[in-house]
Amino acid sequence: VSDPLRNLRALRHKVDQHAQRVETTFAAHFACRRGCDGCCQTERSVSAVELAGVREGLDQLDEPTRARLGASTSHCSMLVDGACAVYAHRPLICRSHGLPLVMDEQLDVCPLNFEQLDIAELPLPEVLNVGSVTAVLVAVNALYCQEEGADPRARTELRDLLAQGS
Ligand code: SF4
Repeated sequence: VSDPLRNLRALRHKVDQHAQRVETTFAAHFACRRGCDGCCQTERSVSAVELAGVREGLDQLDEPTRARLGASTSHCSMLVDGACAVYAHRPLICRSHGLPLVMDEQLDVCPLNFEQLDIAELPLPEVLNVGSVTAVLVAVNALYCQEEGADPRARTELRDLLAQGS
C-alpha cells in the first residue's frame, strides 16, 4: 500500500538534511537550542498534506501532554513548556526556523543567529530558498489531495486540528 505522505516525508528529509549540514558547518553562529521558542509565537496554518503529517504526531502523544496543547492563544497551540510537542512531525516552515533564508530575493535569518557573520557572504547552497521549498510543497499537497480527495486550497490552523480530535 502506497504511503499517502511519502512525498511529504521525502521533502521533509531534504530540508532536514540541508538544516543539519548548515547547522554543523556554522555551529558557532547558531543560538538555536531547546527551550528557545521565539519562532513559535504565532499560530500556524497548514495545507491538507501537512495537516495529515502533524496529525500523525498528535496521535503519538500521551493524554497528559495532549491535554496541555492549545492552552494559550499567545503562541502556537503545539508548544508545551517551550518545546514543540510534535517536533518530528512539525510543518516545513518550522524546519526552516533559524536558518539563513532567501525569500523573494531578500535574505533573512533570526536576529539571534549569525551575529558575527553576514549571511550575504554565505555560498548560495547554504541559504534555504523558501520559494523553491514552497513550490515543491504545493505540488506535494496537490498530489496528496488528488489521491485522498482533499481540498488543495484548504488551510487549517493547528488549533483547529485539536478541535477535530484524531
Ligand atoms: S508546530 Fe511546533 S515548531 Fe512549529 S510553530 Fe508550532 S510549536 Fe513551533
